[in-house]
Amino acid sequence: MWEDLEVTLEKISEDQRKVKPAQDSLGFGQHFTDHMFLMKWNQELGWHDAKICPYQNFVLDPASVVFHYGQAIFEGLKAYKGKDGQVYLFRPEDNIERMNSSAVRMCMPRLPVDKVMKSLKGLLYLEKDWIPTSEGATLYIRPTMIGTEPFLGVRPSKEYYFFIILSPVGAYYSEGFNPTKIFVSDEHVRAVKGGVGHVKTAGNYAASLYTSEMAKKKGYTQVLWLDACEHKYIEEVGTSNIFFKIGDELITPPLEGSILGGITRNSVLQLTEKWGVKTVERKITIDEVLSAIRDGSLTEAFGTGTAAVISPVGELYFKEESYLINNGVTGELSQRLFDELQSIQAGQAEDPFNWVVRVG
Ligand SMILES: *Cc1c(COP(=O)(O)O)cnc(C)c1O
Repeated sequence: MWEDLEVTLEKISEDQRKVKPAQDSLGFGQHFTDHMFLMKWNQELGWHDAKICPYQNFVLDPASVVFHYGQAIFEGLKAYKGKDGQVYLFRPEDNIERMNSSAVRMCMPRLPVDKVMKSLKGLLYLEKDWIPTSEGATLYIRPTMIGTEPFLGVRPSKEYYFFIILSPVGAYYSEGFNPTKIFVSDEHVRAVKGGVGHVKTAGNYAASLYTSEMAKKKGYTQVLWLDACEHKYIEEVGTSNIFFKIGDELITPPLEGSILGGITRNSVLQLTEKWGVKTVERKITIDEVLSAIRDGSLTEAFGTGTAAVISPVGELYFKEESYLINNGVTGELSQRLFDELQSIQAGQAEDPFNWVVRVG
């Protein structure tokens, strides 16, 4: 069925084009481009009706499965405009493959990777004027799949939409590469082993909102999550993976089912190994981290994810106490990783792992 999936193109008329937002006030995920990609799935036809069409509202039955039981998965990646005017993607097939693992766990249909890649490139080519050119600004790409069958019983939907929308986003660090203040939650948890913490599914994010709002009210940017059983082992920070530099080792928690396997996390592991940094994927407790901060052996902590790439951590707050990391200043390795990854992504630095894909 996938072999003969044709993608049709419905272009917006010139007078319907949106006015592009000013590049210095893009923010994150607030503006959307003129076109989107959409295709549908049912049992009889598989994926069908694939099209690049004007960005538009959906008309969905209020009984659609996604509204009641949250059968929804998504991805996040970015397109970059290089200094050479070319459009680049960073490891995009890894995102589509990860979406397919998510689909399996959530009883949703798998995507035809090649077709989706081709459609994404086509959409980006059509929308290339929307890719911001100012330093650090990019076009954020949000592929999403939802269960659309109108049915109130609890079982997998028999109908799905898959769509890709695009949003021009500003530089994450418009005011400089600033270390964040992190709230360590010892009360709420994000995910439990055996559950869906390793899957980019909507419910995980709904479940995290209460705690992140609480943290924000106290003046913290993100939540550092501990494991759900013992409230002891470090898992993730917000929607990023986390790394600690202790002594000469770079440590990150292992992927054992409750943590999302980030593509940035994997890239950091590969890059640092190439640089000769000792990297370890192992369990690490909050107590080990705090005592390493106290004795000065922990010199850097940073989060990794598509949105911010590298997000240095300047302070942890745990059980009514504050712990300053590297005096709240960005560490050397964090800075080097950020610069290197950003340059590779924009097609400016050598790409030893063939991560970058050129569009068109
Ligand atoms: C998306 C995500 C990440 C980061 O993954 P990247 O592929 O690096 O963007 C980490 N943790 C969670 C919970 C996520 O949703």
